[in-house]
Amino acid sequence: MFDRISIRYKLIVLLGLSAALALLISSAITIYSTYLSESRASLRVLHQLTDVISENMRAALAFGDAGSANTMLASLRVDPHILLAVVNDESGRPLAEYRAARVSGAQVPQLQAGVQARIRASADALRRPDGFVEHIDDDFMGVLRPVFFEGAPIGVLAVVADTGVVWAKIRELVLLQAATSVLTLVLLLFLSFKLQSLFTRPIMKLMGAMQDVARTKNYRASLEAERRDEFGTLYAGFNAMLSDIRERDDRLSLLATTDALTGLANRRHAMDSLQTMLARAQRKGEPLGVIMLDIDAFKAVNDSHGHPAGDRVLQEVARVLQANARDYDLVARLGGEEFLVVCDGGTEEVTVAVAERIRAGVEARQIDDGADALFHVTVSLGVHSAVPRSTHEDIEKMIRAADKALYRAKQAGRNRYMVA
Ligand code: GH3
Ligand code: MG
Ligand code: MG
Repeated sequence: MFDRISIRYKLIVLLGLSAALALLISSAITIYSTYLSESRASLRVLHQLTDVISENMRAALAFGDAGSANTMLASLRVDPHILLAVVNDESGRPLAEYRAARVSGAQVPQLQAGVQARIRASADALRRPDGFVEHIDDDFMGVLRPVFFEGAPIGVLAVVADTGVVWAKIRELVLLQAATSVLTLVLLLFLSFKLQSLFTRPIMKLMGAMQDVARTKNYRASLEAERRDEFGTLYAGFNAMLSDIRERDDRLSLLATTDALTGLANRRHAMDSLQTMLARAQRKGEPLGVIMLDIDAFKAVNDSHGHPAGDRVLQEVARVLQANARDYDLVARLGGEEFLVVCDGGTEEVTVAVAERIRAGVEARQIDDGADALFHVTVSLGVHSAVPRSTHEDIEKMIRAADKALYRAKQAGRNRYMVA
């Protein structure tokens, strides 16, 4: 399910959950520690109260004065949390008692029995001058304290209160914590909503760039990689990948369109370019000059100087061709020792001049035979110039015409050009 939610909402959910957990834990700790300290404080107040009363109770106990003992206990009524206070004499008989008006009749015997049972159970502790017994649970807290007269224990004072003070404090705190938690969460969610774009924007950018490349196949695009964080590394990786693809594309298209030995256009590429040149010449009504070239007695060159020298001849001829062609002319190796030159806008006069320059250029070239000797080769050329009329048929026709002229040049004794 989580993988269907966008990264933006994942971030918000993550932030919200961790904040809620942190708030919950800190609230629980605060509430519990407040409970502990509040209980201790309430018990301390009860101790101070019993200290004072037991001090004042001495005379009343010593003389068995129930009236003044009752009056003293009745003063406890100012504290609404005190439920029951009892003074026992030395023999364990109650001398005086106070109970809060809100304690129900049914509760009284239970409370009294509880107090008396505890006094009996702690008889030893309550016979020491500094002895006392304290108790606290969720509902009640109580303190028992012995009363001494001239060094001898003469009775026990017991005061029981409810834990309302503690719970009131806790209730207050829980409310406060809940309110601040909700406020914090809302604030945090708002902030995370605003801040999530810090993370999601770069991811969206990368995703957009990837989709663009997939759709347009344009590998020239790149992401600016100025960032110094992991996104910067990601962008740089993406750019490097694109540039690898570009390089491979360029290399592949070079391999597919050029002849490896001479670097000239290969036959297929030449035919494509010729098609374009032809269409343009047609549109403009200008002529195209076609020169077909074949090296003379090349088999004999290979036989007498070796195949590597033959390759060098091919490269030298290619160089002569390029030196005599203009930028917008086409120079190609059609295969073996056959070459094609197409002069853009080449009238017969111009094309013949180019052919003758090529012939003379090749003848003048000195070629290293690889064994400290130099040799020469010659070429035969067929020239044809025409203003093309209709596309496909004309490529074939023009090449065929130039080829025929080349054949005649061979027949006529080689190292020459012939015009179709
Ligand atoms: P012609 O004057 O009639 O053109 O005779 P030729 O010997 O040049 O003609 P032929 O077609 O009989 O020989 C072509 C030779 O070109 C045969 C082949 O061994 C050689 N050749 C073709 N491609 C290459 C190449 O890439 N490198 C080398 N060194 N030789 C090649
Ligand atoms: Mg040949
Ligand atoms: Mg040949």
